[in-house]
Parts: sequence; structure tokens; C-alpha cells
Amino acid sequence: MVSATQSTIRQRQNQNSTKDTKQQAPKLTSASDPVPTASSPLARRLAYYHELDEWQKDNHYIRSGYVRGTSSYWESFKSLGYLHNETVNIYTHLVPSSISFWLILYYINFQLRIYDNYLGVWEKLNFIQFGLACTFCMFMSSVFHTLKSHSHKVSKFGNQLDYFGIVILITCSLISIILFAYYDEPWEKWIFVALTLFFGTVCTVFTLHPEFSKNYYRPFRSTMFILFGLSGVLPVAFGIYKFGAVTTSERCGVKWLVLEGVFYISGAVLYAARFPERLTYVEEADEHSSLLDPKTGKFDIWGHSHQIFHVFVVIAAYCHWLALVQCYHYLHQHILV
Ligand SMILES: [Zn+2]
Repeated sequence: MVSATQSTIRQRQNQNSTKDTKQQAPKLTSASDPVPTASSPLARRLAYYHELDEWQKDNHYIRSGYVRGTSSYWESFKSLGYLHNETVNIYTHLVPSSISFWLILYYINFQLRIYDNYLGVWEKLNFIQFGLACTFCMFMSSVFHTLKSHSHKVSKFGNQLDYFGIVILITCSLISIILFAYYDEPWEKWIFVALTLFFGTVCTVFTLHPEFSKNYYRPFRSTMFILFGLSGVLPVAFGIYKFGAVTTSERCGVKWLVLEGVFYISGAVLYAARFPERLTYVEEADEHSSLLDPKTGKFDIWGHSHQIFHVFVVIAAYCHWLALVQCYHYLHQHILV
């Protein structure tokens, strides 16, 4: 499957190779070569890493399958219709963002048990704010991955929106748990909510800073989001001190929160480490020889780190949903009695 797709991508990249060069290596061009226009016989959809403009270069372990800079929203939008190295990144978040909110709406209206001690519509709104945050985060991510081929300016802005979506998701996730788990402890509840909003604001300021999206800050970005997510440990640790480990575990749905943390953190670490695509990097004297190595570009289209990160984010969000549902039931069955 991988090799078949790989060869399709390479065929597409080299579809204009003439018959007499069929058995030879692809002719390599550089960013300084004249760029073929869409109508020229040299035009082809996808590019190799070394052919990209500087602003498009991000992960040199991914060698092929790039959508060239389009300078057109419509052309970038049309890239949804063919396979390239952002396709999986786009759809792993576009599909969940399109259905998650509606699933949550259906669940809270038709599946969720409503107790006699129901506290009012804010309980449903608490589920909804988490659903909206998931939808927003994943939609922003899909928009970014679709439009990153547009131009440097649009790609940079999209990148900031992508990070902002992550900040919103983490903020709403943490607050949703605190509102249920600390319902009977108003002081602690509002202190933890305020602290989360403060951390969220700090992350937003960094996220919107122009320096932040530069490649140099990749490890810093991952660390910041991991630390923000880990600030969710604070209410749990305080709960253990106040209510004991067993009660807190039930009250906060800790087993699901731990699983959520494992998926978020391992996804972010893989993203920062660019694993597994770094395993396929072949160091050769020239680009030509390295592209001929069968190992090169094995994860370009399927299975590179960013795609794994996206899938892990979806699984982690689902774990969070399970924790939230558990907190809701605990509130009604044990706290409000
Ligand atoms: Zn992404």
C-alpha cells in the first residue's frame, strides 16, 4: 500500500519525464529554476522538498508530495481533492470537527441521564463548550493544513490560528472538568478556573507573537503546550490532598485524564522529534542520489509524525469526553446527595 502510493506520488511528480528518461532518475530542479506555470508542459502538481521556496520548508525528513505555493485560495482549496503530504493531516481533523459537536448535542439531549437533582442548563452548556472547543481547534487545524500552500503570509497566519485552537481546546477542557469536580468547593473552583484562564492567556500571547511560529521554536512550542496541559494536574493533586486519592480518582475521572495526557504528550513528543520520518532520512552527497534510495520518503504521504500527532489529539479529546461524563455522574450520584 505504502509503496504503491509512493510510486503514484512519484509518478505524479515526474509525470512529464520523457520516455527516454523513464528508467533514469528524475531530473532535479532547484528553487532558483524557473517555475513552470499551470499551462506549461512542465507543470506538475506536487514538488520535492528541495524544490520548495524557503517559506515552505519545515520538515526536511519529508522529501516529496508537497503542494507548491499556490497564491490562490481556490487552488489551495482544490488540494482537498487529491493526495499529497497534507491530505491525512487535513482529514484527520476535518472529519472529527464536522461531526463531534453534533454527536455531543445528540448525546446530551437523548442519551445523557438527567437526575432529579439536575442543576440547570449550565450543565449541558459545560458539555457544549467542550464540544465547541474541539470543533474550533480541529477546524482551525484543517484550515491551516489546507491553506499552508497558499503563501508565506497566509501560512504563518494559519499556523497561529492552529496554535490558538490548541490553546482554546486545552483551556475549555480543563475548565469543564473543574466546574463539575469542584462544584461543591466554590473557592477552589474559581481559583482553578482563574488559573487556567491565566495560563491560557499567556499561551495565547506567545502563540500570536510573530517569532513563535518559527522553526527554531518548535521544541519550545511543544513544551509550552505540554506544560499547559499538565497544569490540569493541579486540581487533581489538590483533590488528592483534600478528598483522598480514591475519591479524587472518581470525582475527576482520573483514569481517563491520565490516558488523555499520555496521548497528548506522546503525540507532541513525536511531533517535536519528527519520528518516524527521521528514520528514513538518507544522507547522500547530493539530492539526486538520496531520492533514489528506496528508504527515502517512506512516510511522506502516510504515517509521518504530524499525522500521528493529529490522530492522538482526536483520541485524547475522546478520553477527555469520557472523563467529563464520569465527573457529571459523580456530581449527581455522590456530591449532590
Ligand atoms: Zn496540525
